[in-house]
Amino acid sequence: MASLFEIPVEKVKGVGDKTAQLLHKLDIYSVGQLIGYYPRSYEDWSNPQPITPFLEGTVLIKARLLNPFETAKVKGGMIISKAMIGDDSGSVNLVYFNNKYVSSMIKEDEEYYFHGKIERTFTGLKMISPTFSPVGSGLGLHPVYNLTAGLSNKQLQRFVKEALKLLPEKINDPIPEFIRLKYNLCDLRKAIADIHFPKCKEDMERARYRHIFEELLTLNLGLRLIKSNKSTVAPIHIGKDLSEEFFAKLPFTLTNAQIKAVNDCMTDLTKGKYPMNRLIQGDVGSGKTAVAAAVCYSVAKCGYQAAFMAPTEILAEQHYNTLSRFFDGTDINVILLTGSMKESQKKNARKHIADGTAQIIVGTHALITDKTVFHNLALAVTDEQHRFGVAQRTKLLSKGKGVHLLVMSATPIPRTMGLVLYGDLDVSIIDELPKGRQKIRTMLIDSSKRNRAFNFIRGEIAAGRQAYIVCPLVEEGELPVASAEEYAAELMLGEFSDLPVGIIHGKMKSIDKEKTMRQFAQGELKLLVATTVIEVGVDVPNASVMMIENAERFGLSQLHQLRGRVGRGEYSSYCILVSDNKSEESQKRLSVMCTTDNGFVIADEDLKLRGPGDFFGSRQHGLPQLVIADLTDFSSLTESSQAAMDILGFSPDLSDAQLKGLRGSIKRLFKTTGTQMN
Ligand code: ADP
Ligand code: MG
Repeated sequence: MASLFEIPVEKVKGVGDKTAQLLHKLDIYSVGQLIGYYPRSYEDWSNPQPITPFLEGTVLIKARLLNPFETAKVKGGMIISKAMIGDDSGSVNLVYFNNKYVSSMIKEDEEYYFHGKIERTFTGLKMISPTFSPVGSGLGLHPVYNLTAGLSNKQLQRFVKEALKLLPEKINDPIPEFIRLKYNLCDLRKAIADIHFPKCKEDMERARYRHIFEELLTLNLGLRLIKSNKSTVAPIHIGKDLSEEFFAKLPFTLTNAQIKAVNDCMTDLTKGKYPMNRLIQGDVGSGKTAVAAAVCYSVAKCGYQAAFMAPTEILAEQHYNTLSRFFDGTDINVILLTGSMKESQKKNARKHIADGTAQIIVGTHALITDKTVFHNLALAVTDEQHRFGVAQRTKLLSKGKGVHLLVMSATPIPRTMGLVLYGDLDVSIIDELPKGRQKIRTMLIDSSKRNRAFNFIRGEIAAGRQAYIVCPLVEEGELPVASAEEYAAELMLGEFSDLPVGIIHGKMKSIDKEKTMRQFAQGELKLLVATTVIEVGVDVPNASVMMIENAERFGLSQLHQLRGRVGRGEYSSYCILVSDNKSEESQKRLSVMCTTDNGFVIADEDLKLRGPGDFFGSRQHGLPQLVIADLTDFSSLTESSQAAMDILGFSPDLSDAQLKGLRGSIKRLFKTTGTQMN
């Protein structure tokens, strides 16, 4: 197959320069890519129906011309071609617009299948521009492709058919035979032909399953390889577990779940045969930072460095402050390195990182640039893991040899996705919130009650608390939803003109964002109007109420993350969702927020209601783009992951000659993520 990816699509019969350009728009450059352009769905051309007055919807009929075509030119130059077709039981009027060729293509005395929508008119049944093919060919399922302007489904079908002719008689199947037999997969050649032009539904399903399986298998093996790339090195051995010493310095007692997570990590660090590769998953507010800090403590005390990477500058600065506080009064030196720091500051920070005088280094992506060189990095912590790609994770690890990895995520990943996303990680779950946490009371209102909500917010502020108002991001040319700027201005001048109101949104310079955030954290600002930039991690325990405008525009998991910004202190906390969208779906979604505060339940619900495409907002998770597989299909996920184990059992580094094709597929799949696969 590999070679077909090297043949330009122009080599397919019928594809000229112009069509090739259209195909490029669909990311089809080679014959291999054309063949790999799978149908979105299929039209059922297997079961023609007799023409009766009961025909309805989209149908397939078998008919011949009763009256020949009449073609007329109407105002504006449009050509209309009309004819009458029929079978033994009835007749249908055919109409085509601007199709010069149709009258010569449909011949008298020949029978055709017609596929299209039936319309009822007072002169009888009518079909407008149905697709057709002569009887004797074309029965079965017909592929329907995603198109681009200027390219018809019919053309694409023809090109794919021609491309399939270029397939050599014998092709190397990347899935070795023993796996195909064990998992009952059809061979590649049949799968390729049948996914485009299946004879029947069963063939189509088998072909699709085989392709899905292959893609998930490739993904799974790729992820495992990334992991094993790393675990072949010996881990840095941390001599002592000094967590107890650290716990004693904390202003609070850790929860049992936190202690368990610290212990898991320390076992990996002190006794593990491989470098640690651990995910800490805990709902918002469960206290992941303290867990990571405890692990950093032992690492630093044993003479090594720990790097703590956060996805945003605000978050990095906040972690820096928290860790500095935790380590106050110890001999551990905590420093910050972010992109927006002054050149001279960065230089200074890098000097301390390189000579080892800094033991704990908190920062953003600036940590993984080539300029940053560590003295003896032993632990890499990444916070809010879903914001980082696998590639970035790997890059941080490459800053030392045998470096331990600790990733933290608050985003509850639906079970199925976790299997793939974090399939290569050991997991510790913090399923307990610190004592005394208040439940966040969540309510859903429409804008007619907004004033009451404002009064409520006022009351909270009068009692000494602080509040957030969150607006969705507005994209240009979108619905008339106030942008955060406009809305904040309105509130500052109107409703809350007597209070210090701040605003924070994505387009601000990070230095300004941080300034505002700091003012809010210190209580100088009472109300913060924000876009989702506050979604991740920000910790202001005095904030007790959050109002979210146009709540229907957010994903549930995102709402859950946002809501987690309140209820972090000792005060009763509230989340007010404002939505005027009365559709049943939207109301149902939002009411999930009011009835549960369990992040996993919410994530599963979100996935069910919205589908996986949107789940992470964008491709921030760093997984390669899948073409056909779907991360929500539990059974194909588990089967393919079992097959991945079988294959690794057979040839741990995939070096066996039978696995050459798979190695190539893995490379191709991960190319888009920027991950180098050997
Ligand atoms: P997250 O898991 O969302 O990252 P944080 O680590 O930011 O949560 O912790 C949330 C807040 O809870 C912080 O103010 C932190 O100091 C506090 N905290 C963490 N653990 C405990 C605990 N065991 N008892 C009381 N407060 C805690
Ligand atoms: Mg956090």
